[in-house]
Amino acid sequence: MREFRLYNTLTRSVEPFAPADGKTVRIYSCGPTVYNPAHLGNFRTFLFVDLLRRALRLHGWRVHQVMNLTDVDDKIIRRAAEQGKTISEVTEPVAEIFFQDRDYLRIEPAEEYPKATDYVPQMVALVARLIEKGIAYKAEDGSVYFAIDRFPSYGRLSRLDRREIKTGARVAQDDYSKENAQDFALWKAAKPEDERARAAWDSPWGRGRPGWHLECSAMAIDLLGETLDIHCGGIDLIFPHHEDEIAQSEAATGRPFSRFWCHGAFLLTEGAKMAKRIGNVTTVKDMRESRIQAAAVRRFVFNTHYRKELNLTEEALEASIDAVLRIGIFAERLRGATSGTPALGQAADQLTQDVESALFDDLNAPEAIAALSVFITRANAELDRRGNDADALAKARAAFERVNGVLDVVPDAVVDSTLASWVEGQLEARKAARARRDFATADRIRAELEERDVMIEDTPSGTKWRVAR
Ligand code: AMP
Ligand code: ZN
Repeated sequence: MREFRLYNTLTRSVEPFAPADGKTVRIYSCGPTVYNPAHLGNFRTFLFVDLLRRALRLHGWRVHQVMNLTDVDDKIIRRAAEQGKTISEVTEPVAEIFFQDRDYLRIEPAEEYPKATDYVPQMVALVARLIEKGIAYKAEDGSVYFAIDRFPSYGRLSRLDRREIKTGARVAQDDYSKENAQDFALWKAAKPEDERARAAWDSPWGRGRPGWHLECSAMAIDLLGETLDIHCGGIDLIFPHHEDEIAQSEAATGRPFSRFWCHGAFLLTEGAKMAKRIGNVTTVKDMRESRIQAAAVRRFVFNTHYRKELNLTEEALEASIDAVLRIGIFAERLRGATSGTPALGQAADQLTQDVESALFDDLNAPEAIAALSVFITRANAELDRRGNDADALAKARAAFERVNGVLDVVPDAVVDSTLASWVEGQLEARKAARARRDFATADRIRAELEERDVMIEDTPSGTKWRVAR
C-alpha cells in the first residue's frame, strides 16, 4: 500500500502517517459553537475533515471521529442573555440546523457528537487532576487557572516565543491573542448571568462553568483515550485553543495529546459579491435557496488545497456548477453504457493511481479533481467508440465510484435542476445575442447545448428544449 502523508502543524512538515494501532484512526475535530448557524467558512473546515476521513478510509483504515458541539461558552451565554433564554434554548435549534446542513453538504457523519454540557463531570475531574499536580490554582476571583509557567513546553504548537509569556497575569475570556499568552481559565466562577442562562454547575471550587479549551480536552480523552492520532480544526484554533488543549491534557496525563495536528486554511467571504443568479451566499441555507447543489460546493471547496486560503467568488462557484454538471452527465452515461474498450480499462487504472497518489500526498484534492476530469475526457472518447470489452466498463465504473466515494461530486437530479438552470442561462444568453443580431454567438451557444445532448427548438411561444438520450 502507498504511504499516506500528512502535514503536521506540530513539526511544520509533511510526515508519513499511520494510526497508532495500525487499524483505526482516532480523530478529534473541533466542532461548531452552536449559537449561530455555521457559515460557509466553518463548513470549509468541516469539509476538509470529511475529505480527510474519506481519504483515510480509501487507504484502508477504519476511522473513529469525534466532533464536539460547543454548547456552553462566552458567546453562547452572551446570546442567551440578549434573548432572555437559557443556553440550551439557544443551542438546541442551532445544533439541529447544523446536522441538516451537514447532510445537505453530504458530509459523512462523525462516529460521535458529544455536547460539552454532557461532560461536565469529566471536566471537573480533569481540573482536579491539574490542581493535584500543582499546575492549576484557584484565584481570588473564584475561578481556576492553568499556570503556564509550570508547563515548560507551553507554546510549542503555535511557536510562541517564551518571552511573550506573561507570568502571573491571567486571562478569563475564552478567546484571546498571542500577546495575551498568560494563565487561562479552566473553570470560571459563576456570575449571575451564567445562573440565569443555566450555565452553572457545582464543583469543588464552587458554582461555575468550564472554559472552552477544557471542554475539548475532557471529551477527547474520555472518548478517544489520552493520545489521539489526529486532532484537527481551522487554522485560527492553533492559538490559543489548541495550545491550551495540549497544555491541559499533557500536564494531566503526562503523554502526548495528539500525534498529528492538522489545520485547514480559511475561506474568505469578505467582499464576496454575487450577482443575481447566485445571490448572496454565506450560509448553507443560502446555498440551498440559490439551488446550488452540494456537489458544486464540494467541488468548489476541494478544488483548492486545504492549506491554501480560498476566496468565495461567483466565478469560482459558477465554474464548479459547470464542472459537476459535466461529471453528472458522464455518471449517467457510464451507468447507461453497455460495453467499453480496452483503453477505457487503462484510463480507469490511471484514474485510480493518480487519485490515490494525489490524496495520499497531504490530501491533494485539486490534483484528484484534475485526474477525474482527464479520465472523463478519455472515457467519453472510448465510449463513443462502442467497443465490446465488458470488463473494461466494469473497471471504469468501479474506479469512478471509488473516486467519487471520496470527493462525492456527482450532482443529484442532473436533468431536474442543475442542468435545467444551466440550460435556462444559456437560452437567455442566446436570446440576447439574437436580439442584438449576434448570430455567431447564438450559433455557438446552440452548439454548446447540443454537445451536452440538449436539443432546442424555436417556437412561436419561445424556445423549447429537451435532453436527447
Ligand atoms: P466555531 O463555530 O467558531 O467554533 O468554528 C468552527 C470551526 O470553523 C473551527 O474549526 C474554526 O476554525 C472554523 N472556521 C471559522 N471561520 C472559518 C473560515 N472563515 N474559514 C474556514 N474555517 C473557519
Ligand atoms: Zn476544540
